[in-house]
Amino acid sequence: VAATNVPWLEGLNPEQLRAVETLDGPVLVLAGAGTGKTRVLTTRIAHILGTGRASPGQIMAVTFTNKAAREMKQRIGGMIGSAVEGMPWLGTFHAIGTRILRYHAELAGLKSSFTILDTDDQIRLLKQLIQAENIDEKRWPARQLAAHIDRWKNRGLLPDQVPASDGVFANGRGVELYEAYQERMAVLNAVDFGDLLVKPIKLFTENPDILADYHRRFKFLLVDEYQDTNVAQYLWLRLLAQGTDETKPNICCVGDDDQSIYGWRGAEVDNILRFERDFPGATVIRLERNYRSTSSILATASHLIAHNEDRLGKTLFTDMVAEDSEEKVTVASAWDSAEEARAVCEEIESLQTKSHPLNEMAILVRTSAQMREFEDRFFTLGLNYRVVGGPRFYERQEIRDALAYLRVIAQPEDGMAFERIVNVPKRGLGDTTVRKINALSRDQDMSPLAAARLLSETEEIRPAARTALRKLIEDFDRWRGNLDTLPHTELAEIVLDESGYTKMWQDDTSPQAPGRLDNLKELIRSMEEFENLAGFLEHISLVMDVDSAEQEDAVTLMTLHAAKGLEFDTVFLPGWEEGLFPSQRSLDENGKAGLEEERRLAYVGITRARKRAKLWFSSNRRIHGLWQSSIPSRFLDELPVDHVDVIEQTSSYGGYGARGYGNYGASRFDKPLEMDSAYQTPGWKRAQAARSTGKRPSSGPMTIEGELVARSVSTKASSFALGDRVFHQKFGYGDVSLIEGNKLTIDFDKAGRKKVVESFVTPHNQ
Ligand code: ATP
Ligand code: MG
Repeated sequence: VAATNVPWLEGLNPEQLRAVETLDGPVLVLAGAGTGKTRVLTTRIAHILGTGRASPGQIMAVTFTNKAAREMKQRIGGMIGSAVEGMPWLGTFHAIGTRILRYHAELAGLKSSFTILDTDDQIRLLKQLIQAENIDEKRWPARQLAAHIDRWKNRGLLPDQVPASDGVFANGRGVELYEAYQERMAVLNAVDFGDLLVKPIKLFTENPDILADYHRRFKFLLVDEYQDTNVAQYLWLRLLAQGTDETKPNICCVGDDDQSIYGWRGAEVDNILRFERDFPGATVIRLERNYRSTSSILATASHLIAHNEDRLGKTLFTDMVAEDSEEKVTVASAWDSAEEARAVCEEIESLQTKSHPLNEMAILVRTSAQMREFEDRFFTLGLNYRVVGGPRFYERQEIRDALAYLRVIAQPEDGMAFERIVNVPKRGLGDTTVRKINALSRDQDMSPLAAARLLSETEEIRPAARTALRKLIEDFDRWRGNLDTLPHTELAEIVLDESGYTKMWQDDTSPQAPGRLDNLKELIRSMEEFENLAGFLEHISLVMDVDSAEQEDAVTLMTLHAAKGLEFDTVFLPGWEEGLFPSQRSLDENGKAGLEEERRLAYVGITRARKRAKLWFSSNRRIHGLWQSSIPSRFLDELPVDHVDVIEQTSSYGGYGARGYGNYGASRFDKPLEMDSAYQTPGWKRAQAARSTGKRPSSGPMTIEGELVARSVSTKASSFALGDRVFHQKFGYGDVSLIEGNKLTIDFDKAGRKKVVESFVTPHNQ
């Protein structure tokens, strides 16, 4: 440990100290997990400020997440006290890009008040453009175009820079649409996320004087997690780091090639490998001492990652003496994912009773669909938890959409639910139609679904919209009619299929789409635990009501991708099974490179742990909706036996193994024996009984028709009489020729005979 009288430098090892104190010229810190890279970066900023080398406004530091930026700000403040006014430009590439664009909005063709479009807005806009070009949207969905545009932007390519060979989408018209999209956004004074990277690049290349201002202004550039920068971010940094001999900023990047896990999103690990070429004279510093993890954890992670061929290779050691109390890394197995969740939560509770705070425990999953089982378990046990890097399972967009369909079936009065999905997937029911439905439902005090039905039977809305609406209502009638005859899980699958919702995500080529499809399958699976749809929906409303435990002591649940840079005393790593982890998709799409990226992800996962890393696999898991017996992950075979304890199953569920697996797959609605008592009338049995007698259970709720008939009867008698002269907003003047409940047939002077809704008509007294 270097002797120093500067407080923030205390405790740094010599290499760390060198990385902090080498302030002139480019520096690359290339080091494994937990070696203090982030700490070096933070200390370096404190050092620059503390020694007066630069003022906060002369420092720009890039982090991978907004959360990391907030933490870094706090730490710097803590190191140097409150002596320094102001703060450096510290944030993600996107946050800093936004700031740059706001300053120079006009030069980028924007007003400084520009809005940042979210994905939904982006898709909507693209859809309009595709329609305007008369391109068949079914064949060429907007989401697919959005994915191409994202990919181009990640590579720093504006429309005129996309290579001709990249003639994708609608027979090569993608680039043309990309250009139209950029023009349209300019008119709307809007940008998308990708623009936050490409627009500053364009700004700097077209305005060398402004770039030179930045060179003069920023004396220090710092970048964390450099291994996961994409091409656009790399170009952006290169420009900012140029300058003349006098103004060239000092750039310092830290990263770990073994932790490059965003290749699927355009990150290029090569950026780190060619740093020395890009920044001649760079000082490269390697940190080898790990301060985070026990020797077992470190040995396990190092041994695993050594199976990757494509790496720089480095040694890591820890001075943490292996104490007797040091726990080895454990590998345990469960019968299925439910038991896995139960067992993990049992361990969490047992640690908690030994006064380990929940804040120091994390469950890191490969895919977000794995979260649901844990969340339900937390809910049952009343265990506080937070989901990092995304909404909780039942709050995800696709889950809320699916739930909305089910709610409309179970509770036709549920207006919010109907509104949510009336045009999802897009079925040509635009804002005007939705507004009309709402107006009518408010006016007449009827459910939006009933209002929609009424509208679909009249000519208040365009024929195309009317047809679409009628189809949707017929679908809901049919689904609701099956509520008592089909198992609710099967019904849910049918609904998602027939409504086109599943297809919407199947056609989506964004990187998130496969995960959303998995989540939908997981949703259906979660329904099996309930006897019927009503019971399931009630459970959901209770689960959704639990406040997010932001401040309290809580277990963290997140994906491995989101866990980068973080650390916890205890880390649970469930689902180490072939197909899930490594993910089959990565293997299929990227072969060996995909496998190596998965292995890096495993390395990231294990190295998050300070004291305990607990790996799990299940013998059975439902993959793509079907129970499958699973094979333990190949990564488990790659762990060093000396440092790993394999926990033999002594659990009360052990009996299943002997029962054999064959009959488990016989019915998708079958449950293991142990569950049977809690599951007295499985949905499929009830359904079979109902089918065989040909009768519907008498307790069944009224059908949708029943509900509507009841409503029509209760509406007041028409306030119009045959022959009345009336006025209608859209069709003008006319005479009432037929009255059916609250529907009127009117002979309009100009528009001819039309069927309209009574409440949209006013009497006209001649
Ligand atoms: P990752 O690759 O996972 O992002 P990292 O290299 O950024 O890891 P840090 O998060 O900076 O590592 O440090 C890991 C842990 O080790 C932190 O708790 C940090 O405070 C601690 N640490 C780093 N350097 C030292 C040191 N010289 N003395 C004591 N603790 C240290
Ligand atoms: Mg770090």
